[in-house]
Amino acid sequence: MFLALPSPISPPLPLVSNINMSKKNNTRKSNVNGVSKKTQTLVKTEDIEDAVSFFSKDETHKLRAVLLDWYDHNHRVLPWRATSNHSNLKEEEEEVEKRAYGVWVSEIMLQQTRVQTVIAYYNRWMLKWPTIHHLANASLEEVNEIWAGLGYYRRARFLLEGAKKIVAEGGAIPKTASLLRKIPGIGDYTSGAIASIAFKEAVPVVDGNVIRVIARLRAVSENPKDSAIIKRFWEIAAQLVDPLRPGDFNQALMELGATVCTPLNPNCSSCPASEFCHALSIAKRDSTAAVTDYPIKGVKVKQRSDFSAVCVVELLGDEKQSSSKFVLVKRPDEGLLAGLWEFPSVLVAGETAPLARRKATDCFLKKNLKIDIKKTCDIVLREDVGEFVHIFSHIRLKLYVELLVLQLKGKDDHFFKSEDDETITWKCVDSNALSSMGLTTSVRKVYNMVQKFKQKKLPSKDTPPPTKKRNRTTKKN
Ligand code: SF4
Repeated sequence: MFLALPSPISPPLPLVSNINMSKKNNTRKSNVNGVSKKTQTLVKTEDIEDAVSFFSKDETHKLRAVLLDWYDHNHRVLPWRATSNHSNLKEEEEEVEKRAYGVWVSEIMLQQTRVQTVIAYYNRWMLKWPTIHHLANASLEEVNEIWAGLGYYRRARFLLEGAKKIVAEGGAIPKTASLLRKIPGIGDYTSGAIASIAFKEAVPVVDGNVIRVIARLRAVSENPKDSAIIKRFWEIAAQLVDPLRPGDFNQALMELGATVCTPLNPNCSSCPASEFCHALSIAKRDSTAAVTDYPIKGVKVKQRSDFSAVCVVELLGDEKQSSSKFVLVKRPDEGLLAGLWEFPSVLVAGETAPLARRKATDCFLKKNLKIDIKKTCDIVLREDVGEFVHIFSHIRLKLYVELLVLQLKGKDDHFFKSEDDETITWKCVDSNALSSMGLTTSVRKVYNMVQKFKQKKLPSKDTPPPTKKRNRTTKKN
């Protein structure tokens, strides 16, 4: 059941029938998203079900032609789009495999991340793991290292798991979207991209850019975050995709959304698809309307607020340990930032007072790391360094950062060795190792905050002075 808009000056209509279409009276009863009463003509159910399609055949052919032509002359040169010449079938097959791997890596990196940011990451990744076979031999630690700063670390883990699965099953990347979807971390979008771009399968790709372009081309007045509507967008994209150049067409549609039909400032005057654009037609004849009215804004998912007390524990060296070390804890293998290293941190209930945060931190250190601040260490320095908010897609995390400099009592140096027991994995690293490690953006920010604090407050970074409050427990080096 597809609603067709035969004329570019037609008003916006819904993609799916959330309107009341009763077979009994064959009328639409509700006024949908600003569609005027005049346009709510009686529509027979059969007419809707027989409606040819969202784009007529003629429009589809023309749109393919103009978009492909525009793409050929205007697409951005990006590393994952590079192709090389081949002189025989084997080379051609290798090239296709390489392309599929490159598309896969780039598309995963591009999810939620800007192209300009991804380029450097992509180049570093391909230098380290130029083929899927190289990647399959990597460890999660190495992968996280290269991924550090890109966010959404599950993506990196799935890429690694996917590569291992493919190599274990023979090493050839599946050539169809349906087979690709069986690989961990590959969904409808990525499978469509790999299958159409590398293997020329005529399957669609729908991302935020494609939804925006189609929503404007057809003045779609439905919530684009609704799963039933998203399904419709996939169907429309499937209808549009060019059977001879599916990969280029999909990229053209996405490229148009990324560079011309942008969310806030679409450049309609240089848009190759303007003659098919209903949103533009509406905006031309109605001064209160704008193409940016489409797609309509969905209701934002409310973020959860979490609060975390982060403690940068610095263990001062003794005669044997020339430099001080920082304690890092590995996050659990499941959940947010799975398997990544961070400074010891503990979730606290809301905007807690510093004393309560310290209590929670002390408890965590004692229970998990066997660091008993009162018994096994002398506190050289303990200061609150600052706080900041880090936004994840669904969580607003406020981090309270403190620096805790400790001198171990006695000759117990087990703290300087990595520990991996059943409940927690942790290690001590010096500042050089820490600086070169791949850390998440928030962990890097915490470390930089502490470094700045030390530069400002302490005369020498290796010999922090004792605080007045704690000088009873201070031990001189
Ligand atoms: S004419 Fe404007 S709104 Fe319509 S698709 Fe092109 S850039 Fe987007």
